[in-house]
Amino acid sequence: MTTIDDFTRPKEFLSPLEKYIGGMIREWAENDVIPYRRKFNEDWKDHNWVEPAMKKLYVDIGLQKAVWPKEVGGWGLGQSDHVGTLMARVFEEVGRADTGIAVASAVTFWPLIMIALKPHINEELCAEFAPMFCDADEPRFAANAMTEPQGGSDIENMGNMGGKTITTTAELDGDEWVINGHKLWPTNTGGVADLFGVICTTKQGSSDEDDFAFIFVPADTEGVTQGEPYKKAGMAADKNSDIWFENVRVPKKYRAWGAGDDAKYFREVINWGSMSSAAFCVGAMMNTYEILKEYCSNKIFRGKPLKENTAVAAVLSDIAKDIEICRIATYQSARTLDRPELYWDKWSHEGVAKSRAVKMHVADKCIEVTNNAASLMGTYGCDRDWDVEKHWRDVKMIQLWMGGKQLCQMETARWFYGCETL
Ligand SMILES: Cc1cc2nc3c(=O)[nH]c(=O)nc-3n(C[C@H](O)[C@H](O)[C@H](O)COP(=O)(O)OP(=O)(O)OC[C@H]3O[C@@H](n4cnc5c(N)ncnc54)[C@H](O)[C@@H]3O)c2cc1C
Repeated sequence: MTTIDDFTRPKEFLSPLEKYIGGMIREWAENDVIPYRRKFNEDWKDHNWVEPAMKKLYVDIGLQKAVWPKEVGGWGLGQSDHVGTLMARVFEEVGRADTGIAVASAVTFWPLIMIALKPHINEELCAEFAPMFCDADEPRFAANAMTEPQGGSDIENMGNMGGKTITTTAELDGDEWVINGHKLWPTNTGGVADLFGVICTTKQGSSDEDDFAFIFVPADTEGVTQGEPYKKAGMAADKNSDIWFENVRVPKKYRAWGAGDDAKYFREVINWGSMSSAAFCVGAMMNTYEILKEYCSNKIFRGKPLKENTAVAAVLSDIAKDIEICRIATYQSARTLDRPELYWDKWSHEGVAKSRAVKMHVADKCIEVTNNAASLMGTYGCDRDWDVEKHWRDVKMIQLWMGGKQLCQMETARWFYGCETL
């Protein structure tokens, strides 16, 4: 019988660890998430149901150690040539179970890209922060604080704005950065995160990339306040809130790299965000396929299984076609992060444009797939017992985050058509 594993995954890209880790996460999904995920909706504030699943993934399987160098107690994946495709598999598997858990795990890894991925491994900061994640027997989370009340898209639109609209300021006072500002929405906030990567400006209003600063702030630093989690349409396993930074002081060395390099490596952070978003979508689509296949094989309409009707089969084939293409595109996008020498510099605007193009296409298709699956399933499509409505609510947010569809369009058009004002 055909299964989700029959959709193509480009095998020549895969890491030797991929089958092993992918298998462990598949088992975790079956035992620790899928039977309970309907309870997550009501658990958005307390996470009583979410936390045991997170603990198993982060601590027992050990995902929170994944990218840290081996010398500081991690798995050392940040030093591997396969980290992109391996993480695509991880995020796809986690996304199949629950895209809210997928984003919470991916974002714990997200700011660490600045300091724990070759060739830019900041050994001093890895030694400083790795014990928080590698020596813990409780889940540890990180957050990437970019979005501000006046808008998230312009902050991420480094190619055009160069950080001009960032209002969170970092001022050097002797050997310390003093940070002031207000951020909204970062995944793993609402009291969850232990460590923040904070996007700041050292000169408000400047579009010079030298003034863009990426500074790490432990969540328990004096002057950091996290608000209450928001109640969203879905993705209850991901908490999001306001964060205020009021005269927050951290050592000077907590700035990831320094003038120019923070902005440069931040482009890689964006590329990873886009690729991971696509992987979550592929996971949600794979699970939608599984549910839909079961429904259309067993539901009898006019004396035969629903899937044996031509009009229905046409929609089913479109869904399978989209999953097949989106999965290949996502692994290809991950591969470009692993092998920049074959493709393009992963800190380039070309990389940002191409990864955003993939994210935009895969997120659009994922929304279409979950929507069409719900339509084919009739009232079962909106029945919480069938979980398609859960994916449908969750995946819309993947399209909205990271500057939304419009920023993806602008960055893609800018690079491919040489637009100068977007
Ligand atoms: C579940 C979830 C998780 C998130 N996680 C994080 C996180 O980890 N870290 C973080 O910092 N933020 C996070 N966000 C916030 C998210 O990235 C922002 O909401 C997003 O970037 C859009 O920013 P905004 O809401 O401020 O909209 P704005 O930037 O104010 O944009 C408003 C609307 O205008 C559109 N728009 C913007 N510029 C243009 C233009 N030039 N032309 C046409 N249309 C335009 C946008 O696409 C959008 O539709 C998360 C959001 C969600 C829902």
